[in-house]
Amino acid sequence: MKGYVFHGPGQSAWEDVPDPAIKEPTDAIVRVGAVTICGTDLHILKGDVPEVRPGTVLGHEAVGEIMEVGSDVRTVRPGDRVLVSCISSCGRCRFCREGMYGQCRGGGGWILGHLIDGTQAEYVRVPYADLSVHALPGAVDDKDAVLLADIFPTSYEVGVLNGRVRPGDTLAVVGAGPIGLAAIATARLFSPERVVAVDRAASRLEAARKLGADAVADADEDPEQLIADLTDGLGADVVIEAVGVPESFELCTRMVRPGGHVANIGVHGRPATLHLEDLWIKNVTITTGLVDTHSTPTLLRMAAAGRLPTSQLVTHTFPLNDMEKAYDVFSRAADTGALKVVLGAPSHEDLAVPTA
Ligand SMILES: [Zn+2]
Ligand SMILES: [Zn+2]
Repeated sequence: MKGYVFHGPGQSAWEDVPDPAIKEPTDAIVRVGAVTICGTDLHILKGDVPEVRPGTVLGHEAVGEIMEVGSDVRTVRPGDRVLVSCISSCGRCRFCREGMYGQCRGGGGWILGHLIDGTQAEYVRVPYADLSVHALPGAVDDKDAVLLADIFPTSYEVGVLNGRVRPGDTLAVVGAGPIGLAAIATARLFSPERVVAVDRAASRLEAARKLGADAVADADEDPEQLIADLTDGLGADVVIEAVGVPESFELCTRMVRPGGHVANIGVHGRPATLHLEDLWIKNVTITTGLVDTHSTPTLLRMAAAGRLPTSQLVTHTFPLNDMEKAYDVFSRAADTGALKVVLGAPSHEDLAVPTA
């Protein structure tokens, strides 16, 4: 089969790799129907995630069909359409028993496209299939569902829930890429008074407005002042960091009000400064996190009911074989306007009946 293989920083290719096979009785083999590229994959390619070994197939977000299951798998069977979650779960370790699947110590957690071969391929082996895939409601199509593999649960759990967004809050979201946009969309479920999006790209600020931001600020034009003006100088109740560079994290800690929350989602490759000389007196709570995906079943029900603007984040679709082209478009987001690129899912053009 074909897969997108990491060969060390700056080196990767869509190439022939061995077909995956069942290794453990709890495994399933999934034929990939739709797959996306995550900002985290770009961090891996830059060398920010050194535990990814050369030779690993990347990707941790997919929708597909179960082809084969191990003898201990009970809840899914061949032919089932499933969401492959970015987080796998052994279900037995202390963290899984506490619902903190992202921190699984039993061989799960974020393993796909990280510690084992991932989803950017024609087939993928998913360990602990009973707890690591979700049967898909028929009403959700592939292009919507694949955004629930990582982007939506991550934004919702690590941003909105960790940040404790409440009715009437002023929320600032720094970074209006796919994660920040999904944070804006899911924060609206809590009726904040206002949501302010901060980014450098005009196209992303425009997308933020479409997804429910009430105000937008260019990151280079004093977003702190805008937040201060909107809140009588107090600062935002909640600030969500969705970039992953020191400057944006430090900006978040300057924009939060006393007693407020800063929820970091960004994947950081460099140290940031924690300005305790300012923060020690402000009762500020700062949270970090890897998604647990405990919210995925809820989000899937909401997507099936049409309550999540998932497909609004998809700007480009490609056939699976165009993986290298998709990476090129996604990695040059400032030029291409890419938010999420989805491979494999039929585009509307493919579905249209030719009229000629
Ligand atoms: Zn991801
Ligand atoms: Zn576990």
